[in-house]
Parts: sequence; structure tokens; C-alpha cells
Amino acid sequence: MVKPMIRLLIFCLLVFFVYKIFRALLRSLPHGQGNSLPPEKTQRGEDMVQDPQCGTYVPRGDALTASVRGQRHHFCSAKCRDDFLRSS
Ligand SMILES: [Zn+2]
Repeated sequence: MVKPMIRLLIFCLLVFFVYKIFRALLRSLPHGQGNSLPPEKTQRGEDMVQDPQCGTYVPRGDALTASVRGQRHHFCSAKCRDDFLRSS
């Protein structure tokens, strides 16, 4: 015969493990990595463009542009633009 105390203990352990598994499942869902994935549009509906120098995504309207060999590039800052122009 199982004593009520032991049944309660087993129940608590079960709840604990279910909770642990649930937490692990939640953490494995791909929603916490927001910043590494580029948003398609900004809240203003602008396109996002990638800075080839540092890899940052910036709204097209806020980006600095430079043309290199006929190709248009977008930059987050003048420093990135200058570094890119110097290295290309
Ligand atoms: Zn940059």
C-alpha cells in the first residue's frame, strides 16, 4: 500500500518534470532570436537594406548610399561607407 505522502511526492516530481519539459520546448521554438533575422519592412512600411560593411539592416530612408562600380550600396553610417569604399 502506498502512503499518501509518497503519492504526493511522486505527484510533485511529475509536475516538476512536466514543467521542465515544457520550458525546454518553449526555449527550442524559434521566436527568441528576433535580432538576428532581418525584418522585411519597418513599422513605417519601408524596405530594409543591409549594410555590406557591418551587416546591419537599416531602413532604406535612413541609409547612406554609395555607388561602387555601378552597384548601389546602403550603409548605416558614414564610417561604414568610408571603410567599405576604402576596402573595395
Ligand atoms: Zn554599418
